[in-house]
Amino acid sequence: MGNQKNAFWGFVIVMVGVLFLSALVDHRRSIERISYSAFLKRVERGDVAKVSISGQDVTGHFKNGTQFQTVVGQFTSDWSVLRAHGVEFSVENQAHQIHWWFLLPLLLLCGAMGGIVWFIIRQTRGSGGGQGGNVFMMGKSKARMYVPSAIKDTFASVAGAQEAKEELQDMVEFLKDPKKYERLGAKVTRGVLLVGEPGNGKTLLARAVAGEAHCTFLSISGSDFIEVFVGVGAARVRDLFAQARKHAPCIIFIDEIDAVGRHRGSGQGGGNDEREQTLNQLLTEMDGFQTGGGTVIVMAATNRADVLDKALLRPGRFDRRIEVPYPDLKSREQILTLHAQTVKMDPSVDLHKIARGTPGFSGADLANLINESALIASKTDRKTIIVDDLENARDKMMLGAERKSYMMTEEDRKITAYHEAGHALAILLRPTYTDPLHKVTIAPRGAALGVTHYIPEREKYSKTKEEFLASITLALGGRAAEELIFGQVTSGAYSDFKAATHEARSMVCRNGMSDLGCVVYGQQQGDFSYSQATAEKIDEQVHKIITTCYQDVCVLLRENKDKLDSLAHALLEKETLYAAEIYELLAITPRVDHRFNA
Ligand code: ADP
Ligand code: ZN
Repeated sequence: MGNQKNAFWGFVIVMVGVLFLSALVDHRRSIERISYSAFLKRVERGDVAKVSISGQDVTGHFKNGTQFQTVVGQFTSDWSVLRAHGVEFSVENQAHQIHWWFLLPLLLLCGAMGGIVWFIIRQTRGSGGGQGGNVFMMGKSKARMYVPSAIKDTFASVAGAQEAKEELQDMVEFLKDPKKYERLGAKVTRGVLLVGEPGNGKTLLARAVAGEAHCTFLSISGSDFIEVFVGVGAARVRDLFAQARKHAPCIIFIDEIDAVGRHRGSGQGGGNDEREQTLNQLLTEMDGFQTGGGTVIVMAATNRADVLDKALLRPGRFDRRIEVPYPDLKSREQILTLHAQTVKMDPSVDLHKIARGTPGFSGADLANLINESALIASKTDRKTIIVDDLENARDKMMLGAERKSYMMTEEDRKITAYHEAGHALAILLRPTYTDPLHKVTIAPRGAALGVTHYIPEREKYSKTKEEFLASITLALGGRAAEELIFGQVTSGAYSDFKAATHEARSMVCRNGMSDLGCVVYGQQQGDFSYSQATAEKIDEQVHKIITTCYQDVCVLLRENKDKLDSLAHALLEKETLYAAEIYELLAITPRVDHRFNA
């Protein structure tokens, strides 16, 4: 794309140069322009050898060989002076007076315009399969197409990212043998949304799926659809899907889908028409999958899933969402190991230690780290990369990027570990009323420092008072652990408090689970409105519930401080722990109530 632009400007510059030169050459044909009086004088002096007359233009040669040109008065027809001085002359028919070199600049101009038009066509056609078609081909998608033999990536090229790979395995199976799924009557997800910060391997994963399934890979960026001309984006989408169906089995990969998929009517200036048309076309094409549509899968990447239009996420469209988070400790080590294979790493380098020292690095950052260290090592006379090189490379990268997550200190990690351990224990020690724990991690993800995941147990139609209290307790577990261990508290528990407050309010205002009794309180104005006095009573009740739960979880954690310590230490060591590992570590009997085969 950049290359094509350069070529285009290069072409324009050359053309302008040619035009300029040709004009110059025209003036410099070493023709002497002289006045009519000077001409007559030279004739009388006998300097002139030969003239040719065409209308008012007179050209000719002096005896010394120089060419000259002059213009005579409109009605001069008396050429006797020439004859008198023995000048050889000829009079030409006026029709021949246009000299071909006057046409030259015009021809060149036409050539230049033609060239520009040709480049515009090439530009809009893109480098994808641009064969045949209509003249202007504005709609031709700009997708880059990779045939199966050109795709070298497989799941083996993606280190870590275990969960994402497992989830994508289905897609691979489907692309390999769609008939199998049809036979079983299974509906296969055709749209996968890969969500994660840049550099964590979304593109790599998508290409790896194509590599595993030996299918065609069509790659395009969401911003490629956005054009000035209304309708072009939609035409490109149509063309993209047509191309995909032609090359099925095929994966369409749309990077930065938020460029087209932004929630409609989110109004950024006026001209949203084009984007909306493009988005609508995309939705239409995806709906077409339900009625056949070949073995085509659409994978889209974004780090802003929150801004996407809800219509994109409906069943039959991008209904599978796969997180591609920053790699945790184990994944970082695996990524480093993979990329270290392409360089000469000294055997003394312990990549586990390097992984520990790079929290918050993305996969691309880690690949870059290895590459930088190789560059640094190549400036020495050593044959291999040693720890110092990696250290220097990391310093260089951290200076370059003001990324907060890089700056996570050991102290921050420790606080985060206890905070998350606090949440986790609040779940584990109150098993009856909480959802089962899935995993706990202190690997930084964007803004959040750590996350405790639990699996929502079942579709809940009703929730008991105990369950409400347990979820408040669980939300407050993080802060309680911090206070218990460090005797001080940090910011960053805002979303926990928000969740706790929300639950408590809903107990009081909607579910009749407080001293205020079985009443519904809505907004302060409108339906089920309430007075200022009642507002104060509600606040009082919410406060009471939260305080009680907080005291409760403090007691719980204090009584289980040994468990809190060992869980926090394990998190500092491993960064991510799955439920099974935690059960084992803390010698807690796993819950059986949700197993299918229990
Ligand atoms: P994204 O699409 O999420 O922005 P990419 O897939 O373009 O990220 O990743 C950029 C590069 O970072 C890859 O080409 C690869 O070299 C490296 N990388 C990222 N994640 C991984 C991973 N899990 N394993 C190996 N390399 C990775
Ligand atoms: Zn928390």
